[in-house]
Amino acid sequence: MTASGEIAVEPRGMLSLADRWPLLAQPAALVAYLCATVGLAAGVAGILARSTEFRWSELLTFMALMACGAVCIEATRRLGMPAGVSRDLLSAWWLPVALLLPPVYALLAPLPLQLLLQIRVRATVVYRRVFSAAAIGLAAGVASVLFHSVVHDPTGRSFGSGGPMALAVGCAALFTVLNTALIAIALHMADPDTRWRDVLWDRERVLLDVVELCLGVLVAIACGLSPVLLVLTLPPVVLLQRSLLHAQLKAAARTDAKTGLLNAAAWQREADTEIVRARRTGETLALLIVDIDHFKRVNDTYGHLVGDQVLAGVATALRSQLRDYDVVGRFGGEEFVVLLPRADVAEARRVAERLRSRVGRMAIPVDDAMITVTISAGVAIMSLHGDDLIELLAAADLALYRAKELGRDRICLPVAPLAPPRARADNSDGGIP
Ligand code: GH3
Ligand code: MG
Ligand code: MG
Repeated sequence: MTASGEIAVEPRGMLSLADRWPLLAQPAALVAYLCATVGLAAGVAGILARSTEFRWSELLTFMALMACGAVCIEATRRLGMPAGVSRDLLSAWWLPVALLLPPVYALLAPLPLQLLLQIRVRATVVYRRVFSAAAIGLAAGVASVLFHSVVHDPTGRSFGSGGPMALAVGCAALFTVLNTALIAIALHMADPDTRWRDVLWDRERVLLDVVELCLGVLVAIACGLSPVLLVLTLPPVVLLQRSLLHAQLKAAARTDAKTGLLNAAAWQREADTEIVRARRTGETLALLIVDIDHFKRVNDTYGHLVGDQVLAGVATALRSQLRDYDVVGRFGGEEFVVLLPRADVAEARRVAERLRSRVGRMAIPVDDAMITVTISAGVAIMSLHGDDLIELLAAADLALYRAKELGRDRICLPVAPLAPPRARADNSDGGIP
C-alpha cells in the first residue's frame, strides 16, 4: 500500500486561458447553462426595475435586511466555510425581501451578500458566485412575483389571516425548490456521473430547507410589523447559522477534499463499526482495496492537476456503482478502500468486477485527448480471509499485489484463506478478462 499523502502541485509554465478563466475549462453545455441563467436573471431584474417605483421606506427595509445578512456572515466568518457546496441560513433574509418588497429587490438581494462572502469568507471562482447569485435571485424573484400578484403591498398584518400566510409558506417552498433545481442542474452538468439524488435532496437537506423556510417567514412577519423587530430576530439566526457551519465543518473534516470520499481515518472508524456489527450479527462482509493502474504515467504525461481530475473521476465512478450503506474512502494516493456489508464471495466479486468495468469504460476529456485508466482490486472476505480490519486489509493488500503481478486490470482474492479447504476452492482469480 502506498503511504497516504497529497501531491504538491507545481505550476507548469505560463498560465493558460482556462487557468485565468476557469469557466472556459467547463463543458460547453454547462457554460451555456450558466450564462443563460445569469443572463435571464439580469434581464428579469432590468425589466422589473423599469416597472418599479422605488420608495425610501422599501429601500431602508431592504438595507436593514441586507445588514442583518452581513452581520450573520461576519459573525460566522472566523469559523471558515467548507469547500464545495455548503449551506447557510441566508434565506432567512432573502425570503423577507421576496415577500415584503417589490420583486426587483429579490433579484438584487443576493448580489451584496455573495460579494461579501467572496471578499470576507472564501474567495472561490467568480463564476460560481455569480451563478449562485443569479439562481437565488431568479428563484426568489419568481416566488416574489407570485406572492405580490395576490397580496398587494404586504405588511406584517397581511400575514395575520390564513390565506396570505399559506401563500407565503407556499412561495417560500417554491423558492427552495427552484433554487435547488437550478443548482442541481449545474452540478449534474459539471459531473454527469453523479446521481440526481445526490445533487437534489437527502433527509438532512430537507430538514434544513424546512428550518430556512420557517425562519424566512417568521423574519418576514416580524420585519413586516416593524423593521426594528429585526434586532430581535438577528441573534437566534446568527446562533443557528454558527451551529450549522460547525456541523458542516465537522463533516468536512471526515472527507477527502480531492475526491469527496471519506478520508482514511474516517473510513477506518466506519469500517471498524461495520466489522463489529457483522461479527455480532454473524453477517458476511467484504473489503476491497482498489488501486489505479500505472497512475504515475498519467501524472508524468499530463501533469498532477489532470491526475487529480482522474482521481476525482474514479472516485465518482466508484461511488456511483455502490449502495448507500457501502463504506468507500480514499486510503491514500491513488488507492481506495470499499467495505461491503452483507457481501459474500460471489457478491464481492460481482461488485468489484462492476467497479473495474465501470472505471475501464470511463474517459476523462483533457485538452484534445481522452484519458482512460484501469484499476486492480484485492478482495478479502470476513471470516474467510481475516477476522478484524487489520487482517482484512492485509489480506486484500496481498490480493491486490497479486492482481498487479498478474498484469493489472483485474480482481484477485488472497491465495491462502483462513477457512477450511472447501472454501479455498472458491479462491481463484475472479473477473480476469
Ligand atoms: P501501479 O499500477 O503499480 O499501481 O502503478 P502506479 O504508477 O499507479 O503506482 P505508483 O505507486 O508507482 O505511483 C502512484 C502515483 O500516484 C505516484 C504519485 O505521483 C501519484 N499520486 C499519489 N497521490 C496523488 C494525488 O493526490 N494526486 C496526483 N495527481 N497524483 C497522486
Ligand atoms: Mg498504489
Ligand atoms: Mg497504482
